Amino acid sequence: MIPKPKMKAKKRKRISRLPRGHRKTKSELKRLEDEVWRLQSKMVRLRDKKCVLCGATEKLTQGHVISTKMASTRYDWLNVHCQCSTCNYRHQFSPDLYQAWFVRKYGGGAFVDLSQKAHQPHKFTKDELERLKMGFELLIENLEKVSHLSNTGDNNDPRNVSTD
Ligand SMILES: [Zn+2]
Repeated sequence: MIPKPKMKAKKRKRISRLPRGHRKTKSELKRLEDEVWRLQSKMVRLRDKKCVLCGATEKLTQGHVISTKMASTRYDWLNVHCQCSTCNYRHQFSPDLYQAWFVRKYGGGAFVDLSQKAHQPHKFTKDELERLKMGFELLIENLEKVSHLSNTGDNNDPRNVSTD
């Protein structure tokens, strides 16, 4: 059998020259960031339970007052609250509503502080992300306990009990 003539070496596949073990660092950080992001989203939904802007209880997500592009405030509990997907989408081109809500709730000073923090450049290390992850896991555990306790009584929400 005549061997087929060899095709010209394909140029489109550029394989990293680093051996497998050395390519991990960045993807490991990215994976950790993804995990912290996912945990933060879960924590925020457990904590706030509904969209802080319109009160919706479905299609909930985490909404950042100050853009997630700013690393310093990306995982700041004060910067992130529960939002429905509609309010979260609207925030992209109309951030004033959410910002006004924040100022009403926490005050103008808190908003200035948060904005200043956001403008300090930051790059998360593996240790910081690990600490954030543990913090969120602990908080989620506690929030789930509280949520379980308030769901086991006769009334789902103790705040609904009439005081008349
Ligand atoms: Zn909403």
